Amino acid sequence: MSDAVELKQFSVGDWNNNVYILVDRATGASVLIDAPTDAARIMEALEGTNPVYILMTHADRDHVGALDEVRQATGVPVGAHPTEADRLPSPPDFELQEGQTLQFGNSELRVMHTPGHSPGGMSFVTGDILIAGDTLFPGGPGNTKRPDGSFDTIVESIRSKLFTLPDETRVYPGHGDPTTIGTERPHLQEWIDRGW
Ligand SMILES: [Zn+2]
Repeated sequence: MSDAVELKQFSVGDWNNNVYILVDRATGASVLIDAPTDAARIMEALEGTNPVYILMTHADRDHVGALDEVRQATGVPVGAHPTEADRLPSPPDFELQEGQTLQFGNSELRVMHTPGHSPGGMSFVTGDILIAGDTLFPGGPGNTKRPDGSFDTIVESIRSKLFTLPDETRVYPGHGDPTTIGTERPHLQEWIDRGW
């Protein structure tokens, strides 16, 4: 199933933010997830594809720096959770909600609301690919020591949503290296016990 979708990935900026582009191989339709910085490089990576959505995992500054430039250059609609909308450089074109399905070419992507790092944190699943934003990293949940963060909430997002995915699901976080659901799932109780 993952053969249907190509994942392009690179990291940019001082915080090594990952840029992810999902491409439906059959049609070239693509989805850009997060636009941290370096619009020129993002535009270059989108070349030869037909972008249909720009989706935001959340609206932290390090994830949205190139958003307006890429949006203006492509004219592609931007989706974000409503609770993140007022932190974006400009308002989104449509709202992301738990359980939504978005079509790109012959492929589809499932939208999951995974709050905890921030209230409108989103994750996206297609085939065995999970784009997890700052919700799940190798070795634990994303940072919740922030005014709008909640450790209990992020644990619940991971337990009740991300960890329902099959073991072989590859997890692509907002920063750094990927992991898999099967690698991380056995450690949930350790994370709860240590409290971060
Ligand atoms: Zn981040």
